[in-house]
Amino acid sequence: MSPPRFVADSMLGTLSKKLRILGFDCKYFSAICDDDIALLAKDEGRILVTRDRQLALRCKKQNINTICLVGESVSDHLVHIAKEAGITQYQISTPGARCTTCNGMLNEMDRIPDEVPPWIKQNVKQFWSCADCGHIYWQGTHIRNLERLIGEINARL
Ligand SMILES: [Zn+2]
Repeated sequence: MSPPRFVADSMLGTLSKKLRILGFDCKYFSAICDDDIALLAKDEGRILVTRDRQLALRCKKQNINTICLVGESVSDHLVHIAKEAGITQYQISTPGARCTTCNGMLNEMDRIPDEVPPWIKQNVKQFWSCADCGHIYWQGTHIRNLERLIGEINARL
């Protein structure tokens, strides 16, 4: 089974970034109208993720696979999504992760990029760049924080 693909509504930017780091294809636009997001979900066979009950209801009537989230907590949202989309455990693996900015695929770089600050160059050996926007990624403390969060979420699945 191929992994689920998502489109998140414009209120769910933080959640979209988390899903992308976790390797899920998640489209997100900071401004998109309800008709467009429903059409995109339908055309591309994506699961629509929203907190908007009206939008969820409308999409379900059109047979669009929809997950209607409640509350503000990203942890709760990720648990809810895993249960509805059949994700047994979340994994953080840099190959397969997506660009948090644009949803592009990340490729490991075969050189140390000139663009990064000197103290990073001295301490980091692996870099990834986004195939679409060129943004450069490396493993830093934010990954360790994320590992803790994902560990807590996986324990709830
Ligand atoms: Zn990108």
